[in-house]
Amino acid sequence: MRTISHFVNGQTLEGTSGRFGDVFNPNTGEIQGRVALATDAELDDAVQAAAAAQIGWAATNPQRRARVMFEFKRLIERDMNALAEILSSEHGKVIADSKGDIQRGLEVIEFACGIPHILKGEYTEGAGPGIDVYSMRQPLGVCAGITPFNFPAMIPMWMFGISIAVGNSFILKPSEKDPTVPVKLAELMMEAGAPAGVLNVVHGDKSAVDAILTHPDIKAVSFVGSSDIAHYVYQTGTAHGKRVQAMGGAKNHGIVLPDADLDQVVKDLSGAAFGSAGERCMALPVVVPVGKKTGDELRERMVAEIETLKVGVSTDAAAHYGPVVSAAHRAKIADYIKIGVEEGAELVVDGRDFALQGFEKGFFIGPSMFDGVKKGMKTYQEEIFGPVLQIVRAESFEEALALPSEHQYGNGVAIFTRNGRAAREFASRVNVGMVGINVPIPVPVAYHTFGGWKRSAFGDTNQHGVEGVKFYTKVKTITARWPEGEVEDSAFVIPTMK
Ligand code: NAD
Repeated sequence: MRTISHFVNGQTLEGTSGRFGDVFNPNTGEIQGRVALATDAELDDAVQAAAAAQIGWAATNPQRRARVMFEFKRLIERDMNALAEILSSEHGKVIADSKGDIQRGLEVIEFACGIPHILKGEYTEGAGPGIDVYSMRQPLGVCAGITPFNFPAMIPMWMFGISIAVGNSFILKPSEKDPTVPVKLAELMMEAGAPAGVLNVVHGDKSAVDAILTHPDIKAVSFVGSSDIAHYVYQTGTAHGKRVQAMGGAKNHGIVLPDADLDQVVKDLSGAAFGSAGERCMALPVVVPVGKKTGDELRERMVAEIETLKVGVSTDAAAHYGPVVSAAHRAKIADYIKIGVEEGAELVVDGRDFALQGFEKGFFIGPSMFDGVKKGMKTYQEEIFGPVLQIVRAESFEEALALPSEHQYGNGVAIFTRNGRAAREFASRVNVGMVGINVPIPVPVAYHTFGGWKRSAFGDTNQHGVEGVKFYTKVKTITARWPEGEVEDSAFVIPTMK
């Protein structure tokens, strides 16, 4: 059976723990490989290699570092098809969606290609007599990223793309469920010209995460995953003196005002709720139609739309979505549907019995839809992370605005309307980090920044964009004077500008 090993100091590092995680093909339900789970000593080897490489890498001028990023982008484009096939075979998302996963990561690499310009500091000439003040952003040293299964290409690139471009070295601990593409990315980074040790991949579970969070030589940790673990990572990492950003789960709402273009809403909702089997942190699993007429019409049209959805293997170009990542996750989604029925929501479409002919052991689940979901329900409060759409009806704009604003998660939200004034007010008042106006999945472009609010993110800085650069650098401010003439008396009071 294929073994996926660590990648440290530019080389494959066989695991020695004797512990492995199963890597499934979600289409067939078969185990297609096993991934080595790291020991503390292996993580330490990676940190030592990264620390040694970082010194020369930080001293490499930013334009040369950017050239590596340009080449990395070219290599990924060269290998796009092969990478997408591997990604789909371990994750289950359809090939076009895997290409989107890689492409959205590449956009962060494109942003990182501009790092010489972005890293320029500030300068004030003549801040005092003969005094100039300037600032520079310097890398932190060795940084680490811990990533979820659902975007095995994009999220690693969010992190190491920026971190490496600014002059850090990096240790990536990808999800153990789909670990192959992250290793391929590290190999391509070497091929692009990054020195050995600049990007390392260490596989593992909680034990590897704990080794990262407590290692004295790792300066910053970026995490993306579920909220309880994000909170744990934030608390443990900061308690060990690290800079930590930890993105968590989500429950994104789509508000539909009575004047919305319902034809468009139905198409947008269908992709945003069921695309990638709902396994996106920016999926739209809750729709809030305002008013009975909007609600009734939307429900009827969504039922018809769901009937047109094709669930298939990830290589089926006609499939809208593929299997979910694991049997356990499929069972969890089915459990949530059962709980939804028990707590009194109306199950309008039930996808639990779906089976794909010839792939009965695959982790497939059909699309489901609930109506009559209420605020207090467990299935509304918690993230399901599957192809399940919940209709929560509201009577007014204010009631609709309060739902996402008061929810424990605050990642993304969308409003569908033709009324600019209502949209503007909604965007201004809603207590959520990323807002779409007639845009169902408002993932900001790479040169803006990604991050939710409330239990969707712990820490102060977002992913990528200028905030990402801030996260992976520290500012140094220099006050300089080149005196001429007589020696001045010592000053015993704090200097102030006259
Ligand atoms: P997860 O929390 O199970 O795993 C994330 C990472 O944490 C993995 O690398 C995993 O190995 C590690 N991990 C697992 N258990 C751990 C433990 N007990 N202690 C320490 N580390 C542990 O998440 P997942 O199932 O891989 O991904 C799905 C989740 O990620 C969803 O909740 C989704 O909303 C969230 N997500 C959030 C964003 C965002 O930007 N907010 C983006 C993508 C996914």
